[in-house]
Amino acid sequence: MASRKSRKTKIFWGLFAVILVIAIVLGVCWYFLIYSKGITLDEFLHNIGMTSPEHSDDEKDNPSQGGSAVSGNAEEIASADLSIHFIAPAVKASGDCTLIKVGNTEVLIDAGPTQGNVDEIKDYLEDYCTDGVLEYVIATHADTDHIAGLVGTSTKGTYNGILYSYEIGMIISFDRTNKETETASGNPTLYGRYLTALEYAGSRGTEIFTASQCWNQTGGAERTYFLDEAQNISMNILYNYYYDHDSGDENNYSVCMLLSQKSDEEENHYLFTGDLEEDGEERLVQNNELPHVVLYKAGHHGSKTSSTSALLERITPEYVAVCCCAGYNEYGAAEENVFPTQAFIDRVGSYTDKIYVTIMWEEETDGFCEMNGDIVFYYGSVNDEEGILKLWCSNHDIILKETDWFKENRTWSGV
Ligand SMILES: [Zn+2]
Repeated sequence: MASRKSRKTKIFWGLFAVILVIAIVLGVCWYFLIYSKGITLDEFLHNIGMTSPEHSDDEKDNPSQGGSAVSGNAEEIASADLSIHFIAPAVKASGDCTLIKVGNTEVLIDAGPTQGNVDEIKDYLEDYCTDGVLEYVIATHADTDHIAGLVGTSTKGTYNGILYSYEIGMIISFDRTNKETETASGNPTLYGRYLTALEYAGSRGTEIFTASQCWNQTGGAERTYFLDEAQNISMNILYNYYYDHDSGDENNYSVCMLLSQKSDEEENHYLFTGDLEEDGEERLVQNNELPHVVLYKAGHHGSKTSSTSALLERITPEYVAVCCCAGYNEYGAAEENVFPTQAFIDRVGSYTDKIYVTIMWEEETDGFCEMNGDIVFYYGSVNDEEGILKLWCSNHDIILKETDWFKENRTWSGV
């Protein structure tokens, strides 16, 4: 009996010792491998494949996860690594003026919608182009609502447009236009004046290329320009069939550009197609390897003839900015032609409801007011985490489908 009891005691203490050793080993492992590295138990379990944790709030806010941009603030924007600004017109008209800022390098795409609006654009640029140098200017096509501010207005023959007011490193201009340089009475048209402005910039040392020179890398032009020293952010001129083919529609001559931001972890892309129309978009898709994009500047101000399914199903945009005067019938009274059109909203709505619009027509005054106003996407930090996409708008950052204008004028059938 005594020996049996002593054997039981030995087994008990033996098991106790084994359990104690295992507990100590696990404790030491937990401390050095997990606790000291700040990994939570949930994350640890997830890492070893035992659970599938919920996405954190930060992941929900990260656009690459399909979430919403975090609300930003104006003070952060000037020092952001990358910011993309859709500058709201200060006139009752649709038109494009987009600023891309990467450190001290700026790209200005178009300067619309009117010659008289240029002072407002210059006021806006004052906060972001502090050295008086615009490294790149892209003139997408020869329509007034894109090139007017590049020329500006004249006082005693001296013009105040962008091409006269800044030192410009390079201008990438459209290849073709159906416009004349002179009116029937022999006065220069806006396009004629634009050519004079180009000449002026050229005489001051600006390099001037066409989009097809960039695409074909001829005459010293490049297809890709890096906007930062780390070479993470590049501006890539895409191939548009209508650079070297005639079109009855001026819009199809638009210079198309893909902005790409690449790091070891991820790639983000942003697409700018000017006013490219349906057949231009179809060929753009055929001729370029277009990726999924974070942001797409709506083609032709949200018209029914741009932002077609062929393009959208390739780029599956997360955010869409529309540079238009919502509800204003500048392109005809028929509701199907009033920007942003129901057809545009129906197509884009299949991919995202994060649609933002610069200004809107104000019925009472037959004037205009801001909808989102100036729309700025940029990367900032949240709780010490860098590279979070943020959105700041000069008026409000309400998505289109939630605005009063939309509820009164359009319907939603999208996501
Ligand atoms: Zn336009």
